[in-house]
Amino acid sequence: MVAQIIDGKAVARGLRAQYCERSERLARRGVTPGLAVIIVGANPASRIYVQNKLRACAEVGIASFKIELAETASSDEVIAAILELNSRPDVHGILVQLPLPAHIPIGPVLRSISVDKDVDGFHLYNVGGLVVGDTVFPPCTPFGVVKLLEHEGISVEGKNVVVVGASNIVGKPMALMLTQRDATVCICHAKTRDLAQFTILADILVVAAGKPNLIVPQMVKTGAVVIDVGINRLPSGKLVGDVDFDGVRQKASYITPVPGGVGPMTVTMLLNNALLSAERNTTS
Ligand code: NAD
Repeated sequence: MVAQIIDGKAVARGLRAQYCERSERLARRGVTPGLAVIIVGANPASRIYVQNKLRACAEVGIASFKIELAETASSDEVIAAILELNSRPDVHGILVQLPLPAHIPIGPVLRSISVDKDVDGFHLYNVGGLVVGDTVFPPCTPFGVVKLLEHEGISVEGKNVVVVGASNIVGKPMALMLTQRDATVCICHAKTRDLAQFTILADILVVAAGKPNLIVPQMVKTGAVVIDVGINRLPSGKLVGDVDFDGVRQKASYITPVPGGVGPMTVTMLLNNALLSAERNTTS
């Protein structure tokens, strides 16, 4: 068996075309959807991510506002910037680019974002919403995975799903979203003993560990759907996921490539959430 490659770039392109129509509909009602991005310090990777998000906003007709704060900014200064954005009617979504400098505790910052503008879905209220299946904004990366599975017509109901990685931004919300869709979900992490005994049972394997070549063919059931969320830069400069793509492709039924799989969906879901927020705020 050779797996079908899930082309996240193409799926994202199709969705973004629909999003242009959504922002045109809002424009006809006099509303320009707006997303504010706060970046603290000069982390080069963060700068590139922010640039990509702002460019994506422009592509679909979302106004974007970049708020840059110095590396030395205090927690109070970051929160003050958020509170100002919370009160602005032209800002429908707010995100704080992570990671923050080490001296700024992340919890109070994320909790100061208005729940109705928390387009990254990291506020405790939104996280709690995931547990009961009623979140305001689903977090972008796992939401992107759900959308890819839906697009390919892959049902998760009753399937054995194994999520490798248990972070707050990918693994845990991923597991909750798939549980909500009636999958039987197992979460593995760095302390899991004998990872392969879990992964081999997966009908759908989602990997988000940040470890190149963590998943090799012997760990994958024949016919499994393999979603690789990992992004790793090798010393050669090549970008790879967490899965041995060439090997696992010979065994799986579907597989996402890196780059071009889950990555393009993450920013696309951010656009979706910003539009959703503007649509919810537009009553007439
Ligand atoms: P993280 O470091 O916060 O969490 C990694 C998780 O993987 C932890 O739960 C850890 O216990 C687990 N893990 C680490 N080594 C493991 C091992 N050997 N076996 C089993 N589990 C192991 O990372 P994160 O923020 O969740 O990101 C994970 C990966 O996904 C990274 O490569 C990151 O770059 C990528 N990522 C991609 C996107 C995207 O849009 N495609 C978005 C976010 C993160």
